[in-house]
Amino acid sequence: MTDKTDKIEIMVNDEKKMINQGLNLKELFTEMDVDPEVAAVRLNGDNIPTEDLSNTVLTAGDKVEFVFFMGGGAFNLSEEEIERYSRHIILKELGGAGQQKIKESSVLVVGAGGLGSPVSYYLAAAGVGTLGLIDSDVVDRSNLQRQILHYTSDLERPKVESAREKLTEINPNVEIKTYNRLLDRENVRELIADYDVIVDAVDNFPARYLINDACVFEEKTLIEAGILRFKGQVMTIKPQEGPCYRCVFREPPAEDAVPSCQEAGVLGVIAGTIGTLQATEALKQIADIGKSSAGSLLIYDALDLSFREMGINRDPDCPVCGEDPEITELIPYEISCSIH
Ligand SMILES: [Zn+2]
Repeated sequence: MTDKTDKIEIMVNDEKKMINQGLNLKELFTEMDVDPEVAAVRLNGDNIPTEDLSNTVLTAGDKVEFVFFMGGGAFNLSEEEIERYSRHIILKELGGAGQQKIKESSVLVVGAGGLGSPVSYYLAAAGVGTLGLIDSDVVDRSNLQRQILHYTSDLERPKVESAREKLTEINPNVEIKTYNRLLDRENVRELIADYDVIVDAVDNFPARYLINDACVFEEKTLIEAGILRFKGQVMTIKPQEGPCYRCVFREPPAEDAVPSCQEAGVLGVIAGTIGTLQATEALKQIADIGKSSAGSLLIYDALDLSFREMGINRDPDCPVCGEDPEITELIPYEISCSIH
C-alpha cells in the first residue's frame, strides 16, 4: 500500500514528470489530460496498442511520448505542424482543435516597434495563419533598446522589411503581409476588414483613436495597449460585448499633455511585458479560451511590482459606441511620425 503512494520520475515528451508508483499508461492519459482518441503513445520507443494501455505499468526512468495524429479529419495539421505545436496541442484547453483555430486565424498588428515586436514574434511562433504588419518607419538606433524585431544591421531599413525576415525565420508556415505605409482614415477600415483580431501597437494618440473607432465600426476585436516609463496597460476591446477605448478616455489628450516615450522614456522591457500580454490575449480570443477580458483594463507598474485590474463599464454616452453616438464616421486626425 505504501509503495503505491511513492513517486517515481519518468520522461513525458522530453520533460521530467513525477508520477505515483504503480500508475499505468491508461491512467497517465488521464493524468496528462490527453484524449486517447487523438493521440497514440510510445513507451521507450515502442508503440503500445490501446488494448495494452491499462496493463502497462510505468517504472522509473521510462520514456513516454504522446504522438498526435490526424484521425478522421479531426484537425488539418501537417506532421511538421503537429511536432512544432506539440506543446500547444497537449494543452487540454487548446488541443488540436485550438491549434487549428490559430492556424485559420488572421491578426493585424499595427506598429512594428516596441509592442509590435513581442506581439508578432509570439503570434508567428504560435502559428497564426496570416499575420499582417503595418508600419511606415525605418529602423533608428534609438529603437533597438526595445524593438527586438530589429537588429543593429537593420538600421535605416523599413521596419516591416526587417520584421518579415525575422518572423519568416521563426515560422515559415505563417503568411506575413506587410504594409509599409501610415494607417489613415482612408485605408484603415479596408485594412482591418480582412483580419479577425487587431492589435494596437502604436505609440501615438491619433492612431489609437482612429483604430478604436474603426474597430467599433467594423465590429473587430481590438487588443489595445500603451506603455510609458515603467508602466503599461492593456485592454481587450470587443465592440459587441464591452467598452471601447473612448468609454474610458473619451477624447485624445491635448497635444503635448501626455509625453511620448521619446520625451519621457520607457524601460525597454516594459514593451516586452505588455506586448506579450497582448499576444496572449489575441491567442485567447482566437482559440476562445479563458475568461473574456472585455471590460477590464490591466495596469502594470514595474517599480511597484504590481498588476491592477480595473473593471470598466460600457459608457452609454460614449461618443462612438454609446446609444446615441455622435461619431458616425472616422475623424481626420493628424497622424505624425514625429514622436517615433
Ligand atoms: Zn465606447
